[in-house]
Amino acid sequence: MPQPRYRSRSAKKHFVRTPGGRVVIHYEKKKVDFAKCALCGKPLGGVPRLRPSELRKLPKSSRRPERPYGGYLCPNCLSRKIKETVRGMFM
Ligand SMILES: [Zn+2]
Repeated sequence: MPQPRYRSRSAKKHFVRTPGGRVVIHYEKKKVDFAKCALCGKPLGGVPRLRPSELRKLPKSSRRPERPYGGYLCPNCLSRKIKETVRGMFM
């Protein structure tokens, strides 16, 4: 029976053959899902698929695109949102 912390569906078994020919199980955390656009739900580019603790170790500039709403909206939704906002200002 694995240790309680490994009895989790977020732990992934990884079979490793040791130099002595024995096969041992190493547990690894599963990869997280893609970051999604808040409006259309499409996967966002430029956002690494890392756990939050790993993401915090990266420089901020490599965690998300450096534009307004980067890492929150996809470029298409952002473009549409900006146009809608500007049209709303002159109505
Ligand atoms: Zn979108």
